Amino acid sequence: MRTICTAQEAKSKLSNFRDRDFRQYQEDVINFVTQSKRKFTIVKARTGFGKSLAAMVAGVMAGDLTYLVQSKYLQEQITSDFPEVDSIWGRNNYTCATNPDKTCELCLATKRNPCKATCPYKMAKQNALAATYRCMNFSYFISEVQFAGRFSGNPFTVVDEADALENTLLNNVALVFTERNLFKLGLQDGPKRKTSTSHSGLDAWKSFGEEALEQSTYEYKRIEKEINQIDPSNEDLLLSKMKDMKTFIHIAEKSQIFLNNMDKHWVYEEIPRYGSRQAQYIFKPTWLSPELSNEFLFRHSDSWLLISATFLPMVVLCKQLGIDPDEIDYMEVPSTFDPERSPVHVWPVANLVSTKMKEETPKLIKAIKIILNWHKGERGLLHTVSYKLCKDIMEGVGSDRLITHDSTNRKEIMGDFQDEYNSLRKDAVLVSPSAERGISLDGDKCKWIICCKMPFLSLGDKVVSARLYGGGDIGKLWYRADAMTTVEQQAGRGMRGEDDQVVTYLLDYQIEKVYEKSPLLWSEAFRDSITWGENELLIEMEKVEDVDVEEVDGVDGEDW
Ligand code: SF4
Repeated sequence: MRTICTAQEAKSKLSNFRDRDFRQYQEDVINFVTQSKRKFTIVKARTGFGKSLAAMVAGVMAGDLTYLVQSKYLQEQITSDFPEVDSIWGRNNYTCATNPDKTCELCLATKRNPCKATCPYKMAKQNALAATYRCMNFSYFISEVQFAGRFSGNPFTVVDEADALENTLLNNVALVFTERNLFKLGLQDGPKRKTSTSHSGLDAWKSFGEEALEQSTYEYKRIEKEINQIDPSNEDLLLSKMKDMKTFIHIAEKSQIFLNNMDKHWVYEEIPRYGSRQAQYIFKPTWLSPELSNEFLFRHSDSWLLISATFLPMVVLCKQLGIDPDEIDYMEVPSTFDPERSPVHVWPVANLVSTKMKEETPKLIKAIKIILNWHKGERGLLHTVSYKLCKDIMEGVGSDRLITHDSTNRKEIMGDFQDEYNSLRKDAVLVSPSAERGISLDGDKCKWIICCKMPFLSLGDKVVSARLYGGGDIGKLWYRADAMTTVEQQAGRGMRGEDDQVVTYLLDYQIEKVYEKSPLLWSEAFRDSITWGENELLIEMEKVEDVDVEEVDGVDGEDW
């Protein structure tokens, strides 16, 4: 990479860090990235290493930086740690200048009725385009470079939390219809063939895609004409028509992508209606081809740094992202954490495969009660993988210490649990099927963690089953590696810094089975934390018939 200054000079340009020394290994990573001759550098570094600073310094040395993140939390953190970085958010994060009750997502400006106000979203975008260092989320970047092209052509782009990149890319490539949209397009019967490999399957998909493109183009143009006839004061009608128009423009764009790229490696999936949620009809590729990932992402920057605390094995990552292994330089940063502060007990007590859940879940519940008693007065986190197991544990354990969430209040409950000044009891235990990401529990916020069940991806997902059963050895490796990486992510929620102290219990035989077969799917640091010796939990379980969860006094929120 071409650089314009040294690492020290670059750090001196970052106001919050100019007076601080580099942490251990940060300069090694900066040298590794800036001296690489390859298009991709990939750096695996655990939480607490200070990856944002290393990436920022490399970007300042390059003279221009686009910093991509997955989560809102990380974008806020980058914006606060590095005031030199200009952050751009999606339209719905800005208040419309002509109507403070609406966000810029609901823009009512049309060619006939152009907005005369200064638009906060457009200003923010202009600022980000003009800035030397800019930060945004993956989805926003992918859609901007694809359709507007304004952020394309950067010399150096960082992808933080890069292990989540594949999903975002796949979702951006996928062609998705709701049942209502299919009906409006007159395509409610779906494609004539359900699989690309069935007789004339691809031809049937192509005809379907062509019809979707034609109909959605017709619909959005028709609505556009209607909008031009509507009285501008009739905001509600205008808004509803504009939403419809955007939907059909989106379908037309995605249909074109589908027609340009679909082949026998794509899958078609129908997700049935559930409660008030409409049924969905989805086409997507089993793997991202090099052509797709290049078209949608990698051609838009000269060099890339992908950085994360966990990555799947390189051979799998290359397959996932459509990258040629010869284009990569890879580095794993050694952990600076003392492994004795985060012991991991591989103590299986139940074999939680789908066919045995009924008889095995009571064993898991008994083990959880014992662990709760071992950690009286301490906060904990239980990863359940599914809402069904979450419910069974809540009911089976029956302790007031346990709190949980559903899909409607997840954000609020998780926010409360990681908030230092919340009113939860100080020995509260969060039971969640989806806390492996986006939650950071340093200090006393979490002293112990249970991974109840191996987080294998659902085989009901067409992409997952196509990879596992039709993807050869690499598909099988991907399936195991994904689950093991998720276990490591789950265990990492409480170990955020060198001073933290967290015990992790892995209770499913399926975790032990994959670990024995493929131990290298876990990082060296995680393997160093695994304890040796007997399964003390199983020994304890054999001693007692039943377990009561013991309560301690003085654990309400005011003491916290
Ligand atoms: S262009 Fe005008 S109407 Fe549209 S979101 Fe911006 S300020 Fe609001």
